[in-house]
Amino acid sequence: MKRKIAIYGTGMAGAMLASRLSGDFDVTVIAPTDYFEVPMAIPRLMVQPRYAEKAIVPIAEALPKARHVRGRLVELSPAGGQVAGDDGSQRMMTAEITVLATGSRFPGSFIRPSSGSIKQRKVSFYRLRSSLAAARRILIVGGGPVGVEVAGEIVETWPGRSVTIIQSGPRILAGTGQSAAAHATEFLTERGVRLLTGERIETPLPPDGYTAEPGEIRTASGKHITYDVMLCCIGGRPNTEYLRTHFSDRLDTEGRVRVTPELLVAGEKTVFALGDITDLKENKMAMHIAGQLDVAEANIRAIASGRAPSRIYKAKTANLLMAVTLGSRAGVIFAPPVGSLRLSWLIRKAKAETMLVPKYRKQLGLSA
Ligand SMILES: Cc1cc2nc3c(=O)[nH]c(=O)nc-3n(C[C@H](O)[C@H](O)[C@H](O)COP(=O)(O)OP(=O)(O)OC[C@H]3O[C@@H](n4cnc5c(N)ncnc54)[C@H](O)[C@@H]3O)c2cc1C
Repeated sequence: MKRKIAIYGTGMAGAMLASRLSGDFDVTVIAPTDYFEVPMAIPRLMVQPRYAEKAIVPIAEALPKARHVRGRLVELSPAGGQVAGDDGSQRMMTAEITVLATGSRFPGSFIRPSSGSIKQRKVSFYRLRSSLAAARRILIVGGGPVGVEVAGEIVETWPGRSVTIIQSGPRILAGTGQSAAAHATEFLTERGVRLLTGERIETPLPPDGYTAEPGEIRTASGKHITYDVMLCCIGGRPNTEYLRTHFSDRLDTEGRVRVTPELLVAGEKTVFALGDITDLKENKMAMHIAGQLDVAEANIRAIASGRAPSRIYKAKTANLLMAVTLGSRAGVIFAPPVGSLRLSWLIRKAKAETMLVPKYRKQLGLSA
């Protein structure tokens, strides 16, 4: 009899782990959507929605050996996971080993919808592209990697378009090196992007973080900015509400799950947590999740064969390595201790040409 493993979330951590384990274990993945998507491709999909044919894959194709239960984990208790479907159905999931990989939610639902089918997701990118194509003035809220990459795609596709990025902190790309931020700033401003740093919006944001209804926002310093399309690209928060009732003591003040070096939820022997939801002190990036997957896989295999989990994960604290694209031909890689690498052929090959879609397709055993 194969051991039963329940994996909540089919993002970069959940789907990749399920792919590694589903040949040897009875794996059920639980997620509210019926697809896996490469998040790095999202800025490109906003201007080139056809690329979704590669970047978004049905779960049935990405994880043919796993069972998929469509729904959202709403409460985890010692008895198992209570899962709610979009149709109002509820079911209890039990397993010998549980993995929590429910990632982040964003104010901009175009970044991560909370439910929906692959068809709806693809259509949403075509709609977004038509709104952007028709807009004269585009306002991007948030100057982190997502906001900067989105701006890069827009100025490459529609040169001369009025684009404003508004950023509450003193500089864009706060999570990586200053020199990378300086390069991105120069690149974008040369192409007419207006960067408003140290500015907070006072007007309420649109409910799903996106609007194609023209409007105006006001900043705390009294500036008024008009727009035809507003895109909210502010950072994510962990999806961990389902732990509040029975395991609130395992959450830190930001709602992230406290994990042991073996990547078990603190105090648990068979419940793992991976990816963006963890309290690991590192940038929340897919790049770091690769190392977490090796540790979790080894420890799950150990537990399944009656051994103690012994592989240890060392968080990539203070590692500011990051590749930020500025359209399909440019960008910057911050690679400490060397600093910023701006060689266009390097950034093209490393990320900008494909937004890492072939890399992650291959990891799932799909053709590039
Ligand atoms: C636009 C964008 C670009 C990025 N670019 C890069 C990059 O270039 N390099 C890099 O290293 N990182 C990048 N990242 C960060 C990277 O994508 C994340 O760190 C990574 O996706 C986190 O993986 P995860 O599996 O923890 O969560 P996610 O990938 O967020 O997946 C979470 C999954 O859980 C599901 N879920 C949510 N709530 C529930 C629930 N209650 N029950 C069941 N399922 C649930 C979701 O539907 C989803 O399937 C980028 C992120 C974004 C948004």
